[in-house]
Amino acid sequence: MFDKILIANRGEIALRIHRACREMGIKTVAVHSTADHDAMHVRLADESVCIGPPPARDSYLNKAAIIAAATITNADAIHPGYGFLSENADFAQMVEEHGICFIGPSADHIRMMGDKITAKRAAKEAGLPCVPGSDGPVESEDQALQLAEEMGYPVLIKATAGGGGKGMKHARAPEQLRDAFRLARSEAKAAFGNAEVYMEKYLQHPRHIEIQILADNHGQVVHLGERDCSLQRKHQKVLEEAPSPALNADARARIGRIACDAIRRLGYRNAGTLEFLYEDGEFYFIEMNTRLQVEHPVTEAICGIDIVREQIRIAAGAPLGYAQEDIRFSGHAIECRINAEDPETFAPSPGRIGGFHTPGGLGVRVDSGLYSGYRVPPHYDSMIAKLIVSGGSRNECLMRLRRALGEFVIEGIQTTIPLQNRLVSEPDFINGDYDIHWLERLVSGGK
Ligand code: ADP
Repeated sequence: MFDKILIANRGEIALRIHRACREMGIKTVAVHSTADHDAMHVRLADESVCIGPPPARDSYLNKAAIIAAATITNADAIHPGYGFLSENADFAQMVEEHGICFIGPSADHIRMMGDKITAKRAAKEAGLPCVPGSDGPVESEDQALQLAEEMGYPVLIKATAGGGGKGMKHARAPEQLRDAFRLARSEAKAAFGNAEVYMEKYLQHPRHIEIQILADNHGQVVHLGERDCSLQRKHQKVLEEAPSPALNADARARIGRIACDAIRRLGYRNAGTLEFLYEDGEFYFIEMNTRLQVEHPVTEAICGIDIVREQIRIAAGAPLGYAQEDIRFSGHAIECRINAEDPETFAPSPGRIGGFHTPGGLGVRVDSGLYSGYRVPPHYDSMIAKLIVSGGSRNECLMRLRRALGEFVIEGIQTTIPLQNRLVSEPDFINGDYDIHWLERLVSGGK
């Protein structure tokens, strides 16, 4: 087992990884920008190294500085968390070349899944059903028009290098397609430095269902069930739940089996998530995330497995030590993402935290790096806390969630707690009756 792990991240996920390490008797090294010297992940770690100025490209994305920090502190592994360098194949490769273990899949798998066109090809070959779409990149407006004609409207133009919902534009008719194509390309170029796009059929009322998998180096592959992440704004997840209210036992077993078979064929190892859209009883693969996900705690809550711990054990070469039939699911869990944003306009709201009180009690977990007096810096993602609530049934979970949201106090800045409060009181949500477009309609007043 590792002696010391460097955590190449910040905020709640850096803390989350630190906690798993601490429980495993592994020492931790935090890295931080100059804006984060007083952050909780730095305060709790055994050691810390400043890796650069506030902009992420100079600090949390600075590969050389992070590897140097690992070398000087004698860390034997690096956990990348999510975001930042977690899906950067070159980084994973560099880390390994420096004799440090990268806690995640191989650089080749990250590369394959990071390009959505190669990802879809690999997924198809591994037996996963995919959203109908172009075979490869779409190079011109004319080609887009011709493909859309064959496929039927509406269609979605997506960035090959996509992530975070950027570079995605849909068109309902030919006259919208030229704009959608141009906009998607320019957004993709700005966000990823790569303008390449592809096309998919735009599904009109799907749910986003994803399967968490774990694969060790000894051929064992298991899934930890599904998460329903259909509540999204601008293609970004806002609230996630497990299990999905939309799946029955048969559909669940079927997609779990298909996912594990595909992972085995791909020869993938460590934790990963296969993302699907689910419409009219059919699953369509959209992408694979080759890292830990923000919403992993809802899975942990229903199956009792510490996913970060498993990532570390797998990276150290340990066998999973259990099979699919040993995994027991129980109850229901919901995660609310809480952002430092105006709950109406979604404008960022960084600043100093005044009063701070987290909810507690049975079935309540708060993952957050906040504390009273902490200043939320303006340089990074606005997610500042996750509230994860579990209960014996979905109904119990909902009652508890409303109670817990009511207890949460974050003063000094604006947060999206009021939006979450509103959301969990909506009859459609209470009935589990929503698709990926539902929240967008709610916040734009279209409901
Ligand atoms: P990203 O990597 O940017 O998150 P994804 O491919 O994972 O992109 O898609 C993000 C979200 O965009 C999905 O969860 C879904 O809400 C929406 N989406 C993606 N593909 C389609 C599609 N073909 N039809 C309708 N919505 C889609």
